[in-house]
Amino acid sequence: MSKLIIQPEQRLRHFVHQVGALLDTQPAEAQLLPAVARALAALVAHDDWLPDEYAVPDPQRYRQYLLHADTCERFSVVSFVWGPGQFTPVHNHTVWGAVGVLRGAETAQAFGRGGDGQLRASGQPKRLEAGEVDLVSPSIGDVHQVSNALAGGVSVSIHVYGGNIGAIARSTFEPGGAAKPFISGYSNTHLPNIWAGPLTLQQDVSA
Ligand code: FE
Repeated sequence: MSKLIIQPEQRLRHFVHQVGALLDTQPAEAQLLPAVARALAALVAHDDWLPDEYAVPDPQRYRQYLLHADTCERFSVVSFVWGPGQFTPVHNHTVWGAVGVLRGAETAQAFGRGGDGQLRASGQPKRLEAGEVDLVSPSIGDVHQVSNALAGGVSVSIHVYGGNIGAIARSTFEPGGAAKPFISGYSNTHLPNIWAGPLTLQQDVSA
């Protein structure tokens, strides 16, 4: 079987094309999410394309660098950079999202409300290694807490969301479940230029 060969500097651009083309077909979420997960898994299968400035950790807090926002804000792509021991608050998204680990490892713990209305961890924490992808959405489970699984190293994951995630009004949750308004913003003021040169995809016929 032949497969596409994509140059490292064109991986993100190719991924942006794929997600845009998927959304153009206005798929139901049940079709969209597996397709996004496959494209994201291909993107994070190679750790050779993310410019260093979008992988710089901060000693205080995890960082979220916007890599691309769709023209009509249908989706956004973000690199999350985790210093040792860093973690998010318990939070929701309000839109679909896919998380792919590029470097290191990440732990995701889902939360759900019990009959008493209290928010509790549901299920076991999930450890995602480099190359693995996890999904969230209001329909499949939207509340989680994510942390760096490496106690002594930096982890980097690539997230794609069904909106301009840094600008969406959403919530963090206190222990017990009280919601607090949350707009995450982004850590960067400049975006990577992913657009130079022709987009060249070659068929590898030897594979
Ligand atoms: Fe999240």
